[in-house]
Order: sequence, then structure tokens, then C-alpha cells
Amino acid sequence: RVSAVWNFAAGPSRLPDAVLARAGAELFDRGADGAAAIERPFSGAAFRRVLDDARERLARLLAVPDNYRVLFLAGGAMHQFSAVPMNLLDPARGLTRVAYADSGYWSKRAMQEASRYAQVIVVAGHAGERPLSAPATGDWRVPPDCAYCHLTANETVDGLAYPAWPDTGDVPLVADATSCFLGAPFDVSRFGLIYASAQKNIGPAGMTVVIVREDLLQRPARAAPSPFCYRLQAASEAGVNTPPTLAIQLAGMVFEWLADCGGLTAVAAANRRKADLLYSAIDSSGGFYTAPVAPGHRSTMNVRFHLTDDSLTEHFLLGAEAAGLTHLRGHRQVGGLRASLYNAMPLAGVGALVDFMAEFQRRRG
Ligand code: PMP
Repeated sequence: RVSAVWNFAAGPSRLPDAVLARAGAELFDRGADGAAAIERPFSGAAFRRVLDDARERLARLLAVPDNYRVLFLAGGAMHQFSAVPMNLLDPARGLTRVAYADSGYWSKRAMQEASRYAQVIVVAGHAGERPLSAPATGDWRVPPDCAYCHLTANETVDGLAYPAWPDTGDVPLVADATSCFLGAPFDVSRFGLIYASAQKNIGPAGMTVVIVREDLLQRPARAAPSPFCYRLQAASEAGVNTPPTLAIQLAGMVFEWLADCGGLTAVAAANRRKADLLYSAIDSSGGFYTAPVAPGHRSTMNVRFHLTDDSLTEHFLLGAEAAGLTHLRGHRQVGGLRASLYNAMPLAGVGALVDFMAEFQRRRG
């Protein structure tokens, strides 16, 4: 059902209308085997076909090179905050430390978790206070005893994204791409490992995509519990533990929808138009609304903005809700407002938001 209420939540978030309709029709009806799609065993041929199909569709969308493996794992991105160090540290080969770039809220949380397993070297950080920007990527000095170098490609809370990737030489780059995954083409070959939890651009919560270069699967990962062990997961073809079958089926439908939309280049262009519409409404409001992130570093997925008079924020949220614009409250750490414009948000939703913003300013400005 096409909704006239627009959900701007940061995640779980809006899914494509076509996918919701298809899921209703295809996932819950029992077939000749007496089972609905979500009732079938994960080791059976029917689910295996769904899994292979989803993996192939994703690999095609992202042009994943042949020497990478695509895993659909249970859990969220925070599970990967631990899984990454558990899998990639390799003390016998002298890889005893880990490098992180500090770009904001989620990179800090990733570092906190990693510090349980190894010494964390912070190789890059915020340039300053306002406007906010991603760390400059020119001069990261990553010590050679670091097992990897981690960055958060899109900071969901802070609303900022890297305009370019750093060069970390022989140290593999690891990206938390949770909130920008599939929002635009992504050069997988620049990274040793990419992970993204599903509840933004992939599907429902409970699943995380991990794309890992095969040579990294040779690292010992002795401390990794079996469900967290990339090597075991890749070798067993999702047979170590029960994979999140519902989320994988829905993800496959989302991947198909993205291909139908024209692939990631077309999707990125649509996302650019949506974000430009909202940022220019903010920037042309004469200071009534402000965006705290520097223009070249603004996320197209999570648009963070504020009312200069913060005492109007609650009025704005109430009015927006009444106008059918929901979940616009900023993250509790930073306050203000945030509109998440993931792939499934059409331009019409953003149009409704900027119309409301102009109307609110006329009444309150
Ligand atoms: N990293 C980023 C960039 C995120 O946006 C989030 C969730 N919003 C997480 C990690 C944590 O993901 P999860 O809740 O799926 O563990």
C-alpha cells in the first residue's frame, strides 16, 4: 500500500513499496511442501536457492570482485565491531594492534569494542568543531603492525560521510558501511572488508552483510566463536548456525528492486537529488534552519539539521507528525532533527518535508 505518511527513521526504516507488497504475497503463503518461505529449513534446497540468488544479485549490483566472499550473518553491525578484531588480529604474524579513524559517534563505539581485543591506534580524527567534517584522508600513518584500519563510511548520527577514501598501503581497510551501503556505487576493491547491518538500505533488522577479501580468511581467528568466524561461515556456505532466513529473503527482493531501478548509479543520482533538495531548503532558510556538517562532507543518507532557535524543535516535531512526516527527531546524543533519506524514500517524501519546513518557518520565523 502506497503511504501518504513519510517515515524518515534512521533504521529500521522504510522499505520499497514494491518489496513490501511482494513480501506480503510471497513470504507467508504455504506452498506445495506445506511450508511458507519463512517456515522452510535453512539447509533445504528452496532456501539455498534464495541464498545463492541474493548473493549473486548483491555481487552484481556492487560489482564485487571474484576474490571476495559475500556473507549474510545473523546480528547487527555492532556484532561486527567485535568480529572484525577477533577475525583479523594475527599475533603470530606480528599483527597485534588495530587502527581506527574517529569520525564521530559510531566510529567511537567501534573503537570501544575493539579495545577489548587489542590496542587501538587512532590514525585520524575530526579537524575541528563546526562545521563538522570527516577526517582528511591525505595523511593517515598506519603502523605496519596494525591488523587493519577501520573507518565508518557514513556517520548515521552525525550525518557526515567521507568524500574520498584514504590509502592505507598494505594494511587492509575495513569499512562500516551500514548507513550508506547500496546508496551509491562503492569500490569494493579499495577495502579488505566491508560490513553493513540490514535495517537501512538492505531489509529488516537482524542481518548483516559482510564482504571480505579471501586472503583475510587465512588469518587464524582462534578467538572467534564459530558463528562469528568469517572463515567457517564462508566455508560452510551459511551452515554454521541458522542464518536470518526472513531477512535474507527480503534482502534478495530489495536487491532485485535496486536492479529494476537501474542499478546503483541510477539510485545514487536519485539520492543526490533528494539530498540536494533538502540541504538547499536548509541553506536558503536565512539561518532559520542550519546544517552542522561542511558541504563536501554531508551525508546523502542522513541529513542532520537544527532549528537555530532550539526551543521550536518540539513544535516542529509535533507539527511534522500531524502533517504525516514521522521520525524526524535527531539522535539523543546530538539533538535537533534528522531526516534519513535511504533508497526507499521517494523524492515526493522529501518534497513534502521541505514544503512543511517552509510553512513552519512562515508561521514561526
Ligand atoms: N554503525 C553504524 C554506522 C550505524 O548506523 C549503526 C546503527 N544505526 C550501527 C553501526 C549499529 O548497528 P546495529 O544496531 O545493527 O548493531
